[in-house]
Amino acid sequence: MKKFFALLIAALVLVTAPVHAEISTVKTADNAADIAGESAEKFYATLPKAKGDYKSRVRPILLEGAMNTETEIFVRALKNPVVYKDLNYLFVAGTYKNYPVVVVRTEQGMANAAASTALAIKKFNPIAVINQGTAGGQDPALKIGDIVIGTKSIPFLAIKTAHSPKGAGADLTNQEIRGTYAYDVASGKFQPYKEYFSDTTLFNIAFKVANTHKNFNAVSGIIASSDAWLNTIDYIYFLHEKYGTTCEEMETAAAAQICQNADIPFIGIRVLSDNVTNNDKYIPESATIVQDFVLLVVENYIHDILKK
Ligand code: SAH
Repeated sequence: MKKFFALLIAALVLVTAPVHAEISTVKTADNAADIAGESAEKFYATLPKAKGDYKSRVRPILLEGAMNTETEIFVRALKNPVVYKDLNYLFVAGTYKNYPVVVVRTEQGMANAAASTALAIKKFNPIAVINQGTAGGQDPALKIGDIVIGTKSIPFLAIKTAHSPKGAGADLTNQEIRGTYAYDVASGKFQPYKEYFSDTTLFNIAFKVANTHKNFNAVSGIIASSDAWLNTIDYIYFLHEKYGTTCEEMETAAAAQICQNADIPFIGIRVLSDNVTNNDKYIPESATIVQDFVLLVVENYIHDILKK
């Protein structure tokens, strides 16, 4: 009898404890980034919380990343970091190279990117905004770790599809981009934008960094933004050929749209974390590469433009 209970308890321990341990360490494409970001979460919790509103004699540079893995290097690089929260979005203000810099964790997706960018503009009045992070390749020539310096971003699902009758199938390639609505200073109205161009000064600085730091494999390209993750290769090739898109992700065009409203210089810079067109699997840790690159862009922007 004693033996039986001992066996029963042993079986229960085996069934319960190790299973939990295993679940939390299994790394799949869907939770890999969350696991990699856990240390950042703990680190953020140790930072001092802001008392009162942000005050700075000079307007800060705003750095955006959707996830912990896409913001941790920035936050650790800040001197005297202070945490702000608004609508549950996290903002960390400090200095980098003796210049005010704010990092926002936008969370994933277009609506979160837009909302957190709008809040950051109101709270911190940034002089420029850099949205960065991971992306999927839409160009088979690019591999994981390659950086795309955005010339522009496209809200590629803001489309009108051609009419087709019931039963004719769903051909999404028969479409026209209509754009998303942003404020146009010249007309004083919200107008549809099919593309959001990067600020040329920020672009030139990023290009200079790519030319002087050959350890990064950076190209210029067009960023395709939506809330979708595409695995339909023919559709990806359709976008790549029709709109010249280089990579896809879920934030840039939405953040760019809000910066257009506020007339704030903006650029999107992305690193490839996956590329289904050449079978490259998702590696969220590639987010470190683009943060290192963007810190050089920030340093050069401060040195060449802001402190001149
Ligand atoms: N939540 C998952 C992965 C999210 S991937 C995890 O924790 O592992 C979606 C995020 O990565 C978005 O912020 C998007 O900007 C970016 N991204 C990377 N590759 C992408 C792709 N192929 N398509 C769309 N978004 C991609």
